[in-house]
Order: sequence, then structure tokens, then C-alpha cells
Amino acid sequence: MAGHHGMVGSALVRALQGRGDPHVITRDRSALDLTRQSEVERFFAAERIDTVYLAAARVGGIKANNEQPADFIRDNLQIQTNVIHAAFCSGVSRLLFLGSSCIYPRLAEQPMSEEALMTGPLEGTNEAYAVAKIAGIKMCESYRRQHGADFRSVMPTNLYGPQDNFDLESSHVLPALLRKFHQAVLAGDGVVQVWGSGRPRREFLHVDDMAAACCHVMELPPGDYWAAVSDRCSHINVGTGEDISIAELAGLIAEIIGFRGAIEFDATMPDGTPRKLLDVSRLRGLGWEAHIGLREGISRTYGWMTEHWENIVVA
Ligand code: GDP
Repeated sequence: MAGHHGMVGSALVRALQGRGDPHVITRDRSALDLTRQSEVERFFAAERIDTVYLAAARVGGIKANNEQPADFIRDNLQIQTNVIHAAFCSGVSRLLFLGSSCIYPRLAEQPMSEEALMTGPLEGTNEAYAVAKIAGIKMCESYRRQHGADFRSVMPTNLYGPQDNFDLESSHVLPALLRKFHQAVLAGDGVVQVWGSGRPRREFLHVDDMAAACCHVMELPPGDYWAAVSDRCSHINVGTGEDISIAELAGLIAEIIGFRGAIEFDATMPDGTPRKLLDVSRLRGLGWEAHIGLREGISRTYGWMTEHWENIVVA
């Protein structure tokens, strides 16, 4: 498991252990820096690893992606290249690469099917990150085509849940709004600022659903997985199939938290892609769909945030 401290990796560890897999191997960053090729090669040569979940990545919200494109493209290309190649060289039997729905063109037809990949220009605010993720999919596909490797890819929509990043500079919208509305209630503020116009639409998936989907995809026999995808379009979308506008999301979070003040939109901040809704029929055809509704998922995440509030505000 690469990335076990992150929101997705930690959910995956919980899910795998819940399915009775006690042999999950993880390493802290201080013991294994995945951006260092020789360290990764040594690690794979020394451990007997059968299956790899590649959930390690540099991730961030619209502001961080827009302002640090070099960091996003470099770290992600390094991590995924090192892990995928070392996994192949050490004879790993199956690998799952986790990407993102931002791989699709900015103005892709909605909902976005897997086939929409590389049919048009990308959204500018996260182009560097998206290019790295597209390279990861194509790398898995290439190892499949050249070497027959069983290297699979899943592309999640916007994820949220426990262990999320609540830092307002680098987080995604859902944890940012949970924090902003909670802080406003604590401070008795009457106004909360939401970035952009509020009109963009996004799809949100709870990370425990994402982890369950990853396990489902990895448990599919090779014949089932490779029959459902194609040689040059081998990834699978993971989402709920439903989206909402940022303004509606802000209203829902305000209601759950009990904020009764005003919501203002800050037009100086970017909107990003106008709409990002995944076509999840490929995954549905393979027998999986999301279970955690948005209201329930937000309430659970709000509970987690308030439990860990002390750590979040000092971070
Ligand atoms: P994206 O899906 O890659 O665009 O990433 P984000 O989750 O960071 O942003 C989604 C949308 O939410 C964008 O239109 C943002 O402008 C909007 N948004 C509104 N308020 C916030 C906020 O406080 N933080 C973030 N990250 N986005 C916000």
C-alpha cells in the first residue's frame, strides 16, 4: 500500500483489513521516499509483494494546483514511475493505480465516459496534475500491452471523508466549507465566503465508498477486468453518478452544521472546470455502486472533523 497516511490510503487499509487481509505492508515517508528511484527499487527487491495499491500522490485543491504546477507534475510523475516500474521488475502480480476525474477535457460531454480521455484540452488550473495522472494510466496500459502486466487503473471523482486535508490554502472544496462554516458558527460570524461563482458542478464520493470500489475492482478475475475495458482505454471511473452545484453544496453544509448567516461568493477566485460528472456505467456493469449518500457522508465527516478539531486548527 503506497500512501497509507493519506485520506484514500488510510481508508483502503481499513477496507482491506475489514475484508480479512492482515498482511498490508506500509512504510512511513521517513523510511521510504517514493520520489527516490533507488529507495523504491531496494524496497521492492527486499519485500515479497504480491499486490500494489498506488494511492500515494501529491494532491490538493484548486488553489494549490494552480499555484504549484511544477510540484504537482514532478512528484506525481516520480512516485508513479518509480512504483509501477519497480513493481513490474519485482514480479508483482496485480497493481491498482489511482487517478482523478480531472484527467478528462475541461469541456468533456457530461457525464464523462472513460472514452473521453484525450479528446480535448484540459482544465488549466490542474493541467500539470492531470497530465501526470494520464501518464500513470498510459504507463499501466503500456506495461499491459508490452509485458502482459495486470496493472489496473481507477479514476475517482472528488473524494471526501475522514483524514481529509482541512487546510484552507490547499484543501478541496468540501473540507474547506466544513471548516469555514464550523469556524463561523464558533466565532458567531454572520458571513461565509465561498470561492468562485458557486455555479460549477461537482460530484462527491465518500472515501469509504472509494476504498470499497478499489477492493471490488482488484478482486475481479483478470478475465472480467480486461473484458470490461480495452487495451487503449483501460481505466474505470468511480463515482456516484450524481452532481450538485457548489452553491447547493454550501447550502447543504450550512444546514448540516446549523449556520444561519449569509453565504457570499468571491468572484476573484477561480471556478475551474464548469462541470465534472463521471459516467459510472462501466463500474456498475462490473457489479459495484456507491452506498453512502452525500448528506450522510457529510454528517459523518463533520463528526470526524469536530473530533479532531484541536489538531486541525493547530496544523
Ligand atoms: P476542483 O474540483 O479541482 O476544481 O477542486 P476544488 O475542490 O478545490 O474546487 C471545486 C470548486 O469549489 C471550485 O469551483 C472552487 O472555486 C470552489 N470552491 C468554493 N469555495 C472553496 C474553498 O473554500 N476551497 C476550495 N478548494 N474550493 C472552493
